[in-house]
Amino acid sequence: AVWFEFHAGRNAGLRRVLSGALSNRRAIDSYMMAELHELFLADGAERQAAREARVAMRAAAERILEAGADAARYGDRLNAAAVGMEAGAQGLATLIAELAAETAALSVRSARLGEELNASGERIAELERQLAAAHQASLTDALTTLPNRRAFDTMVLEHAGRAMNSGEALCLLMIDIDHFKRVNDAWGHAVGDAVIRLVAATLAQTRPDAARAARYGGEEFALLMPATPLPDAAAHGERLRAMLAARRISLRANAEPIGSITVSVGIARYEPGEAIDRWIERADAALYGAKRDGRNRVVVLEAAAEALAAAS
Ligand code: GH3
Ligand code: MG
Ligand code: MG
Repeated sequence: AVWFEFHAGRNAGLRRVLSGALSNRRAIDSYMMAELHELFLADGAERQAAREARVAMRAAAERILEAGADAARYGDRLNAAAVGMEAGAQGLATLIAELAAETAALSVRSARLGEELNASGERIAELERQLAAAHQASLTDALTTLPNRRAFDTMVLEHAGRAMNSGEALCLLMIDIDHFKRVNDAWGHAVGDAVIRLVAATLAQTRPDAARAARYGGEEFALLMPATPLPDAAAHGERLRAMLAARRISLRANAEPIGSITVSVGIARYEPGEAIDRWIERADAALYGAKRDGRNRVVVLEAAAEALAAAS
């Protein structure tokens, strides 16, 4: 299904991520396919909850219309009875007995309707809660509980817009675990998952309040730092790198040491007005600079250096 959507070109976001994967270094493996599926195709839970809420509301509206028709029929009966009374066509006692029976029946029906509407009101409220939960889940990465790539795409737009208005510096850190494949290969994927969670938790715990962390995909993370000049973002990236590198990791079961985990970090400051994709590409380029230079390091993309490189 993922490949079909890609070739059909129906989903621009999907195309962007997959083309990125095809053009650079990220392997298209089962993890990436699962991620793509989660991000772009499987927001089914949310749609399902919305669909159910619509159905429940339509049913409630129909019941109210029916009740209206019921009351109108009752009104017609009353009119007919009044006409009959004037014409003296029926005995008064019979007429009143009939009207009393009809009135009692109507009030039973309205009581039942009231209960039904109460119940559907509760059902709709419950569906609204489910809808909100499904929406939240569609923005959250299940493994790390960090905002996922979809949430990041929205976040990055909002922050760039704010930075353009305020004129404050906005920095993006792209953080990628070094030689992560070796962790999976040597210790298995469950340990790999635990390492991803550990890095995510460290990222979340050390970030300044205003900064936003996200799982960008696989073993790669993004940190948005609003109102943060480039040197401060670099200092934060360096602290994070050093903290992770200093940590000795071991398997809980037998305390067997795995060794340490290192990350590479690429940083770029948002240039007001530049396309978001371009900015992310620049942070990515810095990250791959860090990989190329030997990993376990922070590379800051200096606009001046970039301009020089472009001129030469
Ligand atoms: P580099 O230092 O150049 O970044 O090398 P690397 O091995 O970290 O990078 P590469 O992109 O070659 O491998 C990353 C691997 O991460 C590939 C993929 O199978 C694995 N991976 C992606 N998502 C998950 C996940 O959720 N859990 C686990 N255990 N592995 C994952
Ligand atoms: Mg890596
Ligand atoms: Mg990677």
